[in-house]
This record gives sequence, structure tokens and C-alpha cells, in this order.
Amino acid sequence: MDILISGASVAGPVLAYWLDRFGFDPVVVERTPRPRLGLGGHAVDLFAPATEVMDRMGLVPRLRAANTDTSVLRYERPGRSAIEVDLRDFSAAFADERHLEIMRGELAAILHEATGSGVEYRFGDSIATLAQDPRGVDVTFDSGRTGRFDLVIGADGLHSTVRRLAFGPEDRLRHHLGGYLAVGTLPNYRELSEQTVLYNAVDRIAAMYPVWQTGAARAVFLFRRRGGTDFDHRDIDAQRRMLRAEYGNEGWEIPRLLDEMDRAEDFYLDSIGQIRLDSWSRGRVALVGDAGYAPGPAVGGGTTLAVVGAYVLARALAEAGGAPGAAFTAYQEQLSDYARRCAEVAPAVLRRGVPSSRAQLRFSEAALRLLPRLPAPLRHRLMAGGPSTKLADFTLPAENTDPGSERYTTG
Ligand SMILES: Cc1cc2nc3c(=O)[nH]c(=O)nc-3n(C[C@H](O)[C@H](O)[C@H](O)COP(=O)(O)OP(=O)(O)OC[C@H]3O[C@@H](n4cnc5c(N)ncnc54)[C@H](O)[C@@H]3O)c2cc1C
Repeated sequence: MDILISGASVAGPVLAYWLDRFGFDPVVVERTPRPRLGLGGHAVDLFAPATEVMDRMGLVPRLRAANTDTSVLRYERPGRSAIEVDLRDFSAAFADERHLEIMRGELAAILHEATGSGVEYRFGDSIATLAQDPRGVDVTFDSGRTGRFDLVIGADGLHSTVRRLAFGPEDRLRHHLGGYLAVGTLPNYRELSEQTVLYNAVDRIAAMYPVWQTGAARAVFLFRRRGGTDFDHRDIDAQRRMLRAEYGNEGWEIPRLLDEMDRAEDFYLDSIGQIRLDSWSRGRVALVGDAGYAPGPAVGGGTTLAVVGAYVLARALAEAGGAPGAAFTAYQEQLSDYARRCAEVAPAVLRRGVPSSRAQLRFSEAALRLLPRLPAPLRHRLMAGGPSTKLADFTLPAENTDPGSERYTTG
């Protein structure tokens, strides 16, 4: 049974791996001309249920060896003493040894390698049109190639093409959370090691962390912008000007960081938004990961949700013998509550993590100073129910109930 997957980052390769293992014939089409370069992109988190999926794929030792290793948060306040927080003390979930943090590019490369020879990858192409009938989906590609597939799955991220073609324009389905995120690579001129340095101001934070594998560092800007969401996610020059307008008056390392962001070849800025859909499928087309239910970037659980969603979808398809109606209904029933809880995290991180007044700024400084000094049980109790606990709270179906791998034929 031929299943076309659009996108080869996180959700796409995980889905392809499990579909192949459960007896389907997946084909993955990816817009970038080659597999993602190992260390590109930002750091992403795998919380317990995603680490469990990785364990079932035999990948945990590889992922652990690639862990980012930034366990200390150093909160720097110009003219005043810095506050250092060991993240492993700070949150019960980060203290959980199953939590992994890895560069997204490296994760994608490891997942791509893990998929077996039963998975065909087509790089440098994109779906152009989809036309479905009760028995299959006719697809044309930008390259001019055409094909007919039993099912098409969009794993092509926040700005998904499959979603646009099958569900309609993005602006109706994307909900702006009132924040913006920018990231870029820069030299590790502070010689940071295992440490994220953070600067906080009203309505904006900035941070920098080292990428030990490359010797470079990454800058992160998270800000709230009063007034308007006018923003073109393709206009990089306008985005660079917007970042300068927002941070131009700040002190600390900001002037240097802004200069570095002007030079960063991988400069990224986007509004923080969530994808909200009542249904993740239309007939023989379905969505997985950010394409279907992006909860918002930056510790928003998007990566964990993408991994878990891909596994749940593959199992649902296998259990339904490839019948899309039953499989997509089961997939949504099993995952939607967890996806809803994950979607609560990004608004909370924005609300609490980016102070909106001087009073909140002082309060978060005091909390950061106090929390690490509390006894561990009390600290963990205070953090329980917090964002990272929510992301860890999903129980996968038992591994020994995984469907077999008898090959499915086109029905
Ligand atoms: C700056 C930033 C910081 C983040 N920080 C975190 C974090 O700290 N923790 C966390 O868990 N998550 C974080 N995220 C979110 C995380 O990256 C996503 O939730 C996760 O990557 C989702 O995986 P995905 O496979 O669904 O989509 P994506 O990783 O977005 O992958 C989509 C893939 O589809 C491809 N594609 C797109 N369009 C097409 C097309 N038309 N045809 C073919 N291929 C296409 C893309 O090239 C890409 O390879 C962050 C995101 C950003 C942008």
C-alpha cells in the first residue's frame, strides 16, 4: 500500500520508519535538495513519550551522544550579580533522565538514517496538486513528476503545503499567540560551555547557547510586540529590521547579537502561532506533527508531539489494515487530548517567561533566585503540573501490542 509523506524532518521520517515496519510502502518527498545538514536548526526537546518511541527504534544511545549539554541557565543582569540555575534542579521533567535536547538538524539526520531500505526518499521536490477520489489520490509534483497513492500524509511543518491544498489557507487555521521568535548562528565569542546565558527585559528576552559539536553558538530572541501581527514570513530583510526595532535600545550583549544576526546565514524569525483544526484528516489525506497541530515553538513540545503523533498514526493505520476512515479517527481520538495539553504550554511560557511589566520582571528574578535553594521535593512539587510535566504525560500503547509487518497491498 503506497503512502506518500510530505516532509523529512521529524514527523515524516518517524512515520516512514513505522509504516515500513508495519508493512506499508512509504515514499517521502522533501523540499530541501538533500537531507538536512547534521547540525542545522535550533535545539529541540524530546520528552518521555518521544524518548520511548526513540527507544523502540533503538536510537536512544545515538541521541544521547548528540545531546546539546546545556544544563545551566545563567541569567545576566547588567550592573548586578548574575543568577545561575541548574536546569536539572529547576524542573522535574528536565531532571528526568529520559529528557533529551538535540539540534533539530541532527535529529532529522539520525531519523533519516534510521529508516530502512523500504523507504524511498525524494529530495528537492514538493507536492504541487492533490486530487482524491474514493480509491486513491492523484498527485503532481513541482518537478513535473506525477503519481497515484493510496494515502497522502502532510508532515511538512507549520507552513504545510498538504494542509493548504487539502484544508485551505493557513491564515484561517493559524492562531497568533502574540509573540515572535528569532534565532541564528554566531561565533561562540563568549566561550560558553554547557551554559545558556539569558537577558530579560519587559516584553523581551534574549539568550545565547553553545553548540559543542560545531564550536559555534546560537542566539535566541523571544519577544512580545504590541500592536499588530503584520508580518511576512518570507521577507528576511524586513524581519532583520523588525528585530533591530524591537531590541535596538537594549544593553547587555544585544548590540553584538544584532550585528551577528545581520550576518547569520540561517537567520530565522517567525510569529509564534498554533495550528488548530477540528479534524486532522480529509478523506485519504491526513496531517501529522506541526502541519496538523503545531503547539508553538520553543519548549512548546512540538518535537515530542511530532514524534508521538507519527507513531500513533502509523499504529492506527496498521491496526485498521490501512482503511483511512477508521485509522484517522483512531489517531485523532488517541492523540487529541495530549495535543490539547501540549498546546497550553507555549502561551504559558510566553506569559510567564517573557515579563510584561517591571513588577513581573522583578518577580521572575526573585523566583529564579529562590527556586534552586528550595529542598528538592518541595521544588519538584511546585514544578509539578508545570509545562514540562504536561509534555511528559502521555502513555504509549504497549510495545508488545505493536501490529505485525505483513505487507499491505493496495486495496
Ligand atoms: C526557532 C524554533 C525553535 C524551536 N524550539 C523548540 C524547542 O525548544 N523544543 C521543541 O520541542 N520544539 C521546538 N521548536 C518546534 C520544532 O522544531 C517543531 O515542533 C518540530 O520540528 C516539528 O516537526 P515536524 O516534522 O512536524 O515539522 P518540521 O520540523 O517543521 O519539518 C517540516 C519538513 O517539511 C519540509 N517541507 C516543508 N514544505 C514542504 C513541501 N512543500 N514539500 C516537501 N517538504 C516540505 C521542510 O523542509 C521540513 O523538512 C522550535 C521551532 C523553531 C522554528
